[in-house]
Amino acid sequence: MKLCDCGQTMKLELRRLVYKRRTFISHVPVYACQHCPTYELMPLVKPDLLDYLNSLDGDKHQTRISFADIYEPVSILQDVLASYSGSIEEFQRCYKEAFEDRVNMLLDLYRFAKASNDTAWMDEIKARLEKVNAFLQLKMESSDFCAS
Ligand SMILES: [Zn+2]
Repeated sequence: MKLCDCGQTMKLELRRLVYKRRTFISHVPVYACQHCPTYELMPLVKPDLLDYLNSLDGDKHQTRISFADIYEPVSILQDVLASYSGSIEEFQRCYKEAFEDRVNMLLDLYRFAKASNDTAWMDEIKARLEKVNAFLQLKMESSDFCAS
């Protein structure tokens, strides 16, 4: 369990963040305090989110995007949140199943890419596998999660 500086628990939730007042990114996983306005980005997603924001620099247009559209593990997380109905055990089971399913699917795809000698595709799948696997390895306590 994660604690805020104010002493209250912080829960993982999907939030909309605004960057430089013109980029609106929904479904960003953050640990948010249940008591004060403090929140912090989930460490796992930070490098990719920052890469994405850096890629936007210089872009003067408004951007509205769901992080789930550019970051595979979050789209899985969204599905889990949409399908479980509340108990801690069920959340953990859904979470594990959903990420395991995706890992297996990617492993199948990887075998296929390898059989086709498509190294660019193999690298792409490997990168996806690493990210999804990192989420699978998280010992997610459902008490950490706030389905809002
Ligand atoms: Zn706090």
